Amino acid sequence: MHPDLQVLIALQRDDVEVDRIVNAIRDLSAREVELDRERVASTESIQRLRREVESTATRNRELQNKIDEHKRVQERSLAHVDHVRKARDANAAKTEMDIVQRVLAADEKEQLALNGRVAELQQNIDMCELELAEIDERQAGPRATIAAEKKTRADELAIARSKREESAVKVTRSMLSKYERLRSRGPLAALVPIRDGSCGRCHTAIPMQRRSAILAGNSIESCEGCGVLLHAPE
Ligand SMILES: [Zn+2]
Repeated sequence: MHPDLQVLIALQRDDVEVDRIVNAIRDLSAREVELDRERVASTESIQRLRREVESTATRNRELQNKIDEHKRVQERSLAHVDHVRKARDANAAKTEMDIVQRVLAADEKEQLALNGRVAELQQNIDMCELELAEIDERQAGPRATIAAEKKTRADELAIARSKREESAVKVTRSMLSKYERLRSRGPLAALVPIRDGSCGRCHTAIPMQRRSAILAGNSIESCEGCGVLLHAPE
């Protein structure tokens, strides 16, 4: 067999192994994404509820300022009423106090509702956090398994890659670039054995003369149909 072909076949075998491990790692990552997705609903709910707690607290502070202000007005009016002599002035002061009293009552009612809402939100947050804790507890085992498997695969990949580099340096530069160009087209093989006198990949017939050269291992031929490098069946 052509010496270049031999090293190319070894290189392709190494590349297939590298790809296999890369795919296995990708599958493990996909499983992690799947686990992450399970947590999303709970984490998003918690965030949304916390934002509402914050906006409710802001509204509550605004309301408290208003209530304080109304109370100050009320106190001033009360002090004023004590000093008015004329009945008409006293009536005006009384009307003003009634208005302030009504606004104050409405604000205090809203404040009560807001406090109730905060308590309700907090309960929902507690529930979501409980759910999240349950999910995390359930996922702890699978996540640990995936992490350990990933570590093993990463070690395997490092070994497979260095083996691949060792094989690659044995290939001539021009053959290597041709091979890598073929592999960059996709996951299909760059080197394919001939089968029944045709390309093992696209079944294009190989002329008799080239076929015998390939079978004798004298030269490396490209398929006229799909461009892969052809070699004798092993
Ligand atoms: Zn072909």
